[in-house]
Amino acid sequence: MNSNGKSDNKHITSAAAAAAADPWFSNYADRALGMRQSEVRSLFAVANRPEVVSLAGGMPNIDGLPLDFLADATSKLIRERGKKALQYGSGQGEEFLRSAICEVMRPDGITANPDNIIVTIGSQQSLDLISQVFLNPGDTVLVEAPSYVGALGVFDAYQADIQHVQMDNDGLIPSVLEETIIRLQKEGKNIKFLYTIPNFHNPGGMCLSAERRPLIVEICKKYNILLVEDNPYGLLGFSGDPVPSLYNLNPEGILYLGTFSKTFAPGFRIGWTLGPQAIIERLVLANESATLCPPAFSQFAITTYLEQYDWYQQVKEYREVYHERGEAMQKALEKYLPDLEWTRPTGGFYTWVKLPDGIDARDMLPRAVDCGVAYVAGNAFYADGETGADHIRLSFCYPSPEEITEGVRRLSIAIKQELENKY
Ligand code: PMP
Repeated sequence: MNSNGKSDNKHITSAAAAAAADPWFSNYADRALGMRQSEVRSLFAVANRPEVVSLAGGMPNIDGLPLDFLADATSKLIRERGKKALQYGSGQGEEFLRSAICEVMRPDGITANPDNIIVTIGSQQSLDLISQVFLNPGDTVLVEAPSYVGALGVFDAYQADIQHVQMDNDGLIPSVLEETIIRLQKEGKNIKFLYTIPNFHNPGGMCLSAERRPLIVEICKKYNILLVEDNPYGLLGFSGDPVPSLYNLNPEGILYLGTFSKTFAPGFRIGWTLGPQAIIERLVLANESATLCPPAFSQFAITTYLEQYDWYQQVKEYREVYHERGEAMQKALEKYLPDLEWTRPTGGFYTWVKLPDGIDARDMLPRAVDCGVAYVAGNAFYADGETGADHIRLSFCYPSPEEITEGVRRLSIAIKQELENKY
């Protein structure tokens, strides 16, 4: 058996097939062989067919963006400051944006110093830099069960040993986290960090409860495990109440990841990591070798937006849009699939739905697409690519409330047909 628990025979056959299809196959580094196409990306082609309601992708809804303002502001930016905005910049990111980011994090209760921030190409690149700096092949990373597919892909590419830790409706379960750490350390595993999405989880939709927050942080502190807090959706709670960060509970032991992708626009590709000075310095070195510097133009444009536009009002508008869509999904699930279990998110983009016993989300997908609806099969959110196939992730961020209702109705037909076919 190889480290994935799959038989070597199967591995050899697939390696031979891959070598036949690609003459460069034997030249690739081991880490490149660990890279998988995201299930979400593979779905894009089908999900984008106009007749299919896609409850699959996590594309933010940017209909409300002030395009006229952005057009004027960016053309003024190029005319008046183009020679700076179109030049190479600092490997850590521009100081003025890092200061502005400190203000953006204030609603999370974070008081930060711009020196402790590195600007990255989306929080996705933060994940890559953190992995590059911390992970040797075989090192263990703790993640939630399930976890963000894009993070799993990065950890996999760095040949990490990914271990899932159980969650429930209140998020990560502290006692299970501690048991897992004790067990893995006894087995001699080198646990490098815990990767967690405490707020409006992707794909789970749940939010880590206030009572559990200090417990999770204390456990990481006790066992000397770095905590990576990924928070793309924190400002998108339906109630608008701020969600206190984990970061504040132990700034010396936490890397906090933020992004403008969900609260502004993903196309600028700007995210950041906040953390202890020494780690940030290493991430800057890694960033310089990866990209020299984050894109200067995006940083200038975002800073202009933050300074000259009421960005927080824009976030409130996004929040209302997602709230309405989240409610539409709950109502549709109650109406069309009342016997199933699903999470009831209080923010973010996603609902995690348990399928009836015996249905495999992967097997059902072609039928669902025939019925005119797409979702992501739950196994995409587990490192072994197998666990979780009894769940699906439904996104409510992009389709309209009417499309969501129709999509769930079609899903209920697909499930009914699948059950009839099975039994
Ligand atoms: N983390 C999580 C949990 C996400 O859902 C996403 C986007 N889907 C990202 C990180 C990456 O976002 P970006 O690179 O656009 O900042």
